[in-house]
Amino acid sequence: MQVNELGEFGLIDQIRKRFEGYYNSSVTGIGDDCAIIPKNKFVSNLVTCDTLIENIHFFKNGIQPEDLGHKSLAVNISDIAAMGGKAEYAFLSLAVPAVTSCTWITRYLDGLHDLARDEGVILLGGDTTKSPEHIAITITVIGSADNQNIKRRSEAKPGDMICVTGYLGDSGGGLQLLLENRKLTDEHERNLVHTHNHPRVCHHEGRWLASQQAVHAMIDITDGIASDAWHVARASGLTLLIDTEQLPLSESLIITSEKHDWNIRQLAVSAGEDYVLLCTIDPLECDRIQKAYYKKFGSNLFAIGKVKQGKPNVEIFGKGEKISVLSGGFEHFQ
Ligand code: ADP
Ligand code: MG
Repeated sequence: MQVNELGEFGLIDQIRKRFEGYYNSSVTGIGDDCAIIPKNKFVSNLVTCDTLIENIHFFKNGIQPEDLGHKSLAVNISDIAAMGGKAEYAFLSLAVPAVTSCTWITRYLDGLHDLARDEGVILLGGDTTKSPEHIAITITVIGSADNQNIKRRSEAKPGDMICVTGYLGDSGGGLQLLLENRKLTDEHERNLVHTHNHPRVCHHEGRWLASQQAVHAMIDITDGIASDAWHVARASGLTLLIDTEQLPLSESLIITSEKHDWNIRQLAVSAGEDYVLLCTIDPLECDRIQKAYYKKFGSNLFAIGKVKQGKPNVEIFGKGEKISVLSGGFEHFQ
C-alpha cells in the first residue's frame, strides 16, 4: 500500500495510534489545531507546526519572499488563534538549495520579522540545511491560553449555529490566478492574490471568541470549509449542515469569478488557505455574540449553517436542497 492510498489524514491517524498511549490525559496531542500542554491550573501552552514546500504550497515566482516570510508564520499563528491562544515563541527550520540568493533569504526574513514583531512573537531557534532542489520551511510556534478559554474541535453541540469570521474562497481565487499564470489586470484580481500570498490572521477575533462561553468549538479554515467542517464533525461526533447560499463572498471574488467563469461556490466550499475561523455557537446566544462581535471588530460574524445530532458528516445545501459535496477540500497525497 502506498501513502496516497492512505491519504493525509489516514497517515496522521497511523502516527497518532503509534504514539497516543504515551502521554497522560492532561495533555492533548494529535487531532486539534495545536497540542495543549498544561502549565498550571490556569494556563496551558499551545504548540503547532506547519510546513510550506516549494511547488506544493507556493511557487517561487508566484510569491514575493517577504510575503512568504509573513505567510509561513501566519499559518501557525492562525492555529494558535483557532484555539483561543496568543502566539509567543517561534522556531524556524529552513532547507534551501545552495544556489538560493542571499537577497531572497534577507527579504524572506524581513517578512517573517515584520509579522513576528507585530504579533509579539520571539524567534528562539530552528535548523538550517541544504536542500537538493526545493525550498522547505517548517515553523513551530508556541503560545499560551487560559485553560477556561481553550476551544477545541470536539466541543460542538447539537443545535449550535456555525459561523465564520470572514470571506471564503478569496485565497483559492488568488491561487487560481497564479496557476493560470494570468497577468493581474485589476484591483480585484490583485486583492485575491494578496489574500492568498499574505493572509491576515484572525488572532484578536480568535481570542475574543474564545473568551465567550457560548462559543463551543473552533477551527481555522486551512483546507477548505468542507474539509475543516468535517474535522469538527468527526471530533464532535455530529453532523454539520452548511448552506452555500449563506457563504460570505467578497466583491473581488464575485467580480473575478464572473470575469473568468469560475464556479464561485466550488471555490468557497472547497478551496483552502482562507485562514478565517469557523466556530459553533449556542443558538440562544448567537445573535447576541454576532452583534457584540460586529461592535468590537466592525465586521460580520457570518452564520453559515447548523450542527445537528447524527453521525459525523458534513451536509452541504444550496437553495434549501441537499447538494452533493462538491469536494472534500484539500488533502495531501490525493
Ligand atoms: P492544521 O491544518 O490545523 O495545521 P493538520 O491537518 O496539519 O492541522 O494536522 C491535524 C493534527 O494532526 C494536528 O494535531 C497535528 O499536530 C497532527 N499532525 C499532522 N501531521 C503530523 C505528524 N507528521 N506527526 C504527528 N502529528 C501530526
Ligand atoms: Mg488549523
